[in-house]
Amino acid sequence: MQNKCILFIYAKLFYILPSLLIKFSATIVEKIANYIDGQLLEPTAGLYFENISPITGKAFSLIPDSDEKDVELAYKAAEKAFHSWSNTPATTRSKIMVKIADLIAENLNALAKAESLDNGKPLALSTSVDIPRAESNIRFFATSILHWSSEAHIMENNAINYTNRKPIGVVGCISPWNLPLYLFTWKIAPAMAAGNTVVAKPSEITPYTAFLFSKICIEAGLPAGVLNIVHGFGNKAGNAIVSHKKIKAISFTGGTSTGAHIASIAAPMFKKLSLELGGKNPNIIFADADFDKMLATTLRSSFSNQGQICLCGSRILVEESIYEKFKSAFVEKVSKMTVGDPMYPDTKTGAVVSEAHMNKILSYIELAKKEGGKIICGGERKVLSGELEGGFYIQPTIIEGLPQACRTNQEEIFGPVVTISSFKTEEEAITMANDTQYGLAATVWTSNLSKAHRCAAALDTGIVWINTWLLRDLRTPFGGTKNSGVGREGGFEALRFFTEAQNVCIEL
Ligand code: NDP
Repeated sequence: MQNKCILFIYAKLFYILPSLLIKFSATIVEKIANYIDGQLLEPTAGLYFENISPITGKAFSLIPDSDEKDVELAYKAAEKAFHSWSNTPATTRSKIMVKIADLIAENLNALAKAESLDNGKPLALSTSVDIPRAESNIRFFATSILHWSSEAHIMENNAINYTNRKPIGVVGCISPWNLPLYLFTWKIAPAMAAGNTVVAKPSEITPYTAFLFSKICIEAGLPAGVLNIVHGFGNKAGNAIVSHKKIKAISFTGGTSTGAHIASIAAPMFKKLSLELGGKNPNIIFADADFDKMLATTLRSSFSNQGQICLCGSRILVEESIYEKFKSAFVEKVSKMTVGDPMYPDTKTGAVVSEAHMNKILSYIELAKKEGGKIICGGERKVLSGELEGGFYIQPTIIEGLPQACRTNQEEIFGPVVTISSFKTEEEAITMANDTQYGLAATVWTSNLSKAHRCAAALDTGIVWINTWLLRDLRTPFGGTKNSGVGREGGFEALRFFTEAQNVCIEL
């Protein structure tokens, strides 16, 4: 009874806390803790740094500045837990993870508020996308492990081979700030479901929901050491995970240059590596597309999460015959988008994640002008009033008149900025679309089925959406070609990554 009562009070506090943080965001009210060996711990050196909310530009919590000693503690806890967790029946692992998913669903509002406060994204988005998807990630892998099976290869000369897929051991998961809990759970869920134990580091820019998640894991009864969350800077805590001799696999999502750095450390140590990196995705619009559906979706694919989704279509390529029609309709819609307080239900565009990132985006807008681009919508920082005056807001921006080869069209801006260009033929559209170092995703708008298939085959990207965007089935392979990454996540691809295949051959 007493335990139930404590849990009830705890659940209430979990719900209330983010509202308090929003209200009193000028005051630092909480220290985030590492989650190691089932406990919430201070960093060993006792050092913290401020967690700034992009909504106000003010600090609202303190983040552990963890170092290699904290990573070592996390590793030891994970190593200790591995034998027991990897031998725990999949049905039991599944039940614990389903409980974690249930608790995410129960705490949807509190987690969504915390995510928006930390990241600046509209509350409507974190409530409808980020947190529900984090729940789905856990539930999906909790149940997919129950359907996971091995192959057998029977030989004509009386022998049989079977594949024994064994968990790897202690693995490292490093995730970025744009979809914080969503991408964090996308990595740790398949790792844990497959029987590994994990040392994870969320982005230091948005650690808050991972901290709340560690409380959920405690409440759900996840055994100590199965998941360990170390907060801190990438080049310190993150680096210690990547260079740890006994962490056998690294699953990383983030920028391409960070991915290259991580690969340079991990590859000589023969770690398994999954790298989900940047993108500069084309959105190809043919004249025969369903115009209204295309326009509504293109608004989302350009500016959702302030353009800070690796899958956003930042290069819009439009068939010449409808270029002017598209341009005027698009500009009209985008100029009406409200940039505002992410906590208001009607806000479509919130803050970008940090002051440094805002300045980077603004510098790209300046670069676009120098390269000869014409800003036809937005192009400025937006300063809001009152409490939000110090927040990091940028108007959704459309640029035209730039060649594909220029830096604005080649480098990932990762903000509410798109370029529009026209093309004459299908071949020209494909050449323009493929003309980048990246190969993450592409979108094609056409009502011609043959053209859709031809384009999909010709596009050098890991993902192609036809007449839609961001429609995701968690069973499908997810990842990019070229500098957008190495390997695939999602479904059984992720379970394959987090296991070692051993062939057993028996002569009969
Ligand atoms: P970063 O590469 O800066 O960081 C990603 C993560 O790596 C963070 O947790 C970061 O920590 C950590 N990190 C940084 N340096 C190191 C290091 N030396 N060793 C180990 N870890 C390190 O990316 P962002 O967080 O800026 O995220 C945006 C990028 O992520 C964009 O390029 C975007 O395209 C890409 N992305 C790709 C996706 C995909 O699926 N392909 C999906 C989403 C985003 P810290 O933040 O503390 O420095």
